[in-house]
Order: sequence, then structure tokens, then C-alpha cells
Amino acid sequence: MADLERVRHWASALITLHLDPSWTFAFDNAKKRAGLCNFTVRRITVSRYLAARYEDDEVHQILLHEVAHALAGPRAGHGPKWKLIAHDLGYDGKSTHDGEIADELAPWVGTCPAGHVHYRYRQPTRAFACGLCVRGFDKRFLIRWARREITAAARRQAAAASAG
Ligand SMILES: [Zn+2]
Ligand SMILES: [Zn+2]
Repeated sequence: MADLERVRHWASALITLHLDPSWTFAFDNAKKRAGLCNFTVRRITVSRYLAARYEDDEVHQILLHEVAHALAGPRAGHGPKWKLIAHDLGYDGKSTHDGEIADELAPWVGTCPAGHVHYRYRQPTRAFACGLCVRGFDKRFLIRWARREITAAARRQAAAASAG
């Protein structure tokens, strides 16, 4: 798991190396995307929530993805100009869409009797009824939880998919 102080340190180093000094770095509280490049305030942010769950290499990739956005400019999107810059920086992310990914990394997966799937990062400590099936608690719609193994490959994939 990446240490947040180290992430901050790499981010500052990358900004010093590649961007002009008006750019800054901060952590944000996003849960569904790992990184963001804000051109208006000239700030690169990384989700403290996801960074704490990814390995160092993956967080480094997210930073490169965002620094490439800062260099390519807001109109480049994930187009050829951004791709070229990102590649030169050492970004090897295969997927660059900004999707809902956090669920992929949640170790607790629950299913209700109707088959709705739910995700939790922490072991549920009390019985939950499926919110899609019923309002409030009803033991006929109880969710059954199972713990799954989150592999390094899954984390890597989620990191690549979630770099915004
Ligand atoms: Zn349900
Ligand atoms: Zn992006």
C-alpha cells in the first residue's frame, strides 16, 4: 500500500521537474476516480482513499497520467497529444477512461435474494437488507456477504482505469 507522505513527495518532484511552479499537488476524497488534473486552479489531486489501497507503482502511474494532462493542456483529452506526452513520461496505463472503479477493489461482495450485488471495503458488522429491494430492514431481503481476494492484477487494472 502506498504511503501518502511518499506520494506527496513524488508528486512535488514530478511537478518541479515537468511543470511550472504555479502547479500544486493535493489529496482529495474521491472514491470513484484516482486522479484529477484541475486546469483552473492548476492543481493535480490524487484520491487519498484510493492511493492508500494501491501499490506504489500504480500510484506513480496515476501521477504520470495527471502530469501528462497538465502538460498536454485541457483540450488534448486522452487524444494523441496526451498519449505521446504520457508515454514519454513513462506512463504505461493501457486504459485511460474515467470510470467507476472503486467497487472492483472492495473485498466484501454481498448478494440479496433477488441477485443485486453490493460492495463494502470493510466487513459488514450488522445484517443489511438490500436497499434496492426494500426500504429499511427486512430479513427476507438480507444480503449475504462473502470475502474475495483482491489480486495485485485487479488493483493495477483498476488504477489504470481510474486515472482521470
Ligand atoms: Zn435486492
Ligand atoms: Zn485522464
